[in-house]
Amino acid sequence: MTNFEEMGFTPGILKAIQELGFENPMPVQEKVIPLMLGGEADIIALAQTGTGKTAAFGLPLVQATDTEINNTQALILCPTRELCMQITGDLTDYARFTGKLKILAVYGGASIDNQIRGLKKGVHIIVATPGRLIDLIGRRAANLSSVTTVILDEADEMLNMGFLDSINEILEEVPHGRRTLLFSATMSKEITSIARKYMNNPVEITIGTKNSSADNVSHAYYLIHAKDKYKVLKRIADFEPDIYGIVFCRTRKETQEVASKLIDDGYNADALHGDLSQMQRDAVMQKFRVKNLQLLVATDVAARGLDVDDLTHIINYSLPDDTEVYTHRSGRTGRAGKTGISISLVHLRERHNLQQIERMVKKPFKAIPIPTGTEICGKQLFHWLKKLENVSTDHQEIEKFLPEIKEKLAGLDREELLKRVVSLQFDRFLDDYRNGEDIIDTVSDRENSFERSGRRGKREEYPGNYTRLFINLGKSDGFYPEQLIELVNTNTKGKKVPIGKIDLLKTFSFFEVESSYADELIAALSNATFMDRRVAVEIAQEKTDKPRTGEYSGKRPAKWSDRKPEKRSQGRSENKSRNYKRDSRFGKKDKKKNYSR
Ligand code: AMP
Repeated sequence: MTNFEEMGFTPGILKAIQELGFENPMPVQEKVIPLMLGGEADIIALAQTGTGKTAAFGLPLVQATDTEINNTQALILCPTRELCMQITGDLTDYARFTGKLKILAVYGGASIDNQIRGLKKGVHIIVATPGRLIDLIGRRAANLSSVTTVILDEADEMLNMGFLDSINEILEEVPHGRRTLLFSATMSKEITSIARKYMNNPVEITIGTKNSSADNVSHAYYLIHAKDKYKVLKRIADFEPDIYGIVFCRTRKETQEVASKLIDDGYNADALHGDLSQMQRDAVMQKFRVKNLQLLVATDVAARGLDVDDLTHIINYSLPDDTEVYTHRSGRTGRAGKTGISISLVHLRERHNLQQIERMVKKPFKAIPIPTGTEICGKQLFHWLKKLENVSTDHQEIEKFLPEIKEKLAGLDREELLKRVVSLQFDRFLDDYRNGEDIIDTVSDRENSFERSGRRGKREEYPGNYTRLFINLGKSDGFYPEQLIELVNTNTKGKKVPIGKIDLLKTFSFFEVESSYADELIAALSNATFMDRRVAVEIAQEKTDKPRTGEYSGKRPAKWSDRKPEKRSQGRSENKSRNYKRDSRFGKKDKKKNYSR
């Protein structure tokens, strides 16, 4: 691998690279930079967003620009105002230690007079959206006669947005001897035709596989009934307390509805769509960029150009009509060397569309089981415990109260105290998931198991049946999925025992194990202890007429396996809003603000 020092950059650029913290060139940079610095060739680079392409063309471009001459030497065309601003900002960073480089972003939706004034002062590099640039050319404010380099960034997006004619018109304005670079996530007939018409024997560079998704993005789906989509979305968010992602919807109406419901239910979410004013859109995007929002519910058009690097999730609440759009959506995660997941909520009738997308993306899509209520509660609990572990207690104010607190709680031993603290934090959450738990699980169990292209969902990774076991430990013993898995792992000496669905109750629980492991696991756990209690595990019976082993002595319903979790409690349904606020590192959600828009 070549490093930046060996690439032929001037000390000023190298210093900027160092300040930006770029240690090694990314693959697209390794390929594009030497070509740009070392020759005149036109370049087509097929690379997703987030692969470092701005620096790939921007660093050599800044170095090659002569700041002693007061004319426009380079033109960068890109699809959106946000991307314009992003590129302009990045190029300004690259030029921090070089001469006085003048870069101007011109885009629609902003005052054209200011842009005309800016152009009149003379700029070295114009970063433009095609529509606005045509306007400025028409008003003779933009003069492209001295441009020697043209860069078409996110060319496929520009074509998707209907800019083909504008691009043709602009390219006719630029002198023919120029150098042209074209960056695109996908290769299409239209891109090939632009290349043929305006480029001179371009060198083609592909990062990853042509038209495929980024390497570090995995693809998963839930096959569900349409009516359960929102519930599943909530489960994804609840199962991933640190989620930071975009939820893509098909229409503005759907976007607003989903966002409003999430906000109503206490999630840190907001909507981004075309019915909002530019100012409102900017405000939402900014909130999202600085992570004051965890979930951005957006239409494809509104989210174009939104540039965020560390998204953990892309959720396709609705599959896009155009399969290419899926590549753009999923390419928003797994950026800058990080990993990400693109999850699709697929309606039964949409299976066919999913297969089409899968073929285009050239990566397997994995059917994943919907997290159960108990899994979610366990995950949330441990997330909270982690925060508890790391919380700073260095407050003098607390010290003052400690003696009184100690006196008041003197009658509670450590275990009792822990139980109460956890209950305080979690009872509402647990209530939330008690009711309605099986509505979704039934659907996922039944329908996620469909066979598609020889693959099956996670449950089916282990062929064979599952046996439902009873264990004499429950939530009041501090027994949650993590404890169960740990108990199984420590007593089976690292054997990978496939565990299925887990149903935790107060004083006992049920869990499924792949049938061929059932006897072995029962034997292995028969001598085990949990918090000084002897563990008792046995196959869950349809009817119980003999006393159970272990310490469980409570009454059970006549038919264990028939008992549905939603009948266990009269708790609130999943659709009812939570009356607590989500506490997250993303800051508090301001409900009023969300509503007032
Ligand atoms: P881009 O594809 O140009 O939007 O870049 C995606 C992200 O990668 C941006 O946040 C860049 O700052 C970052 N980046 C670009 N080049 C490098 C590099 N060589 N090392 C680390 N990060 C980089």
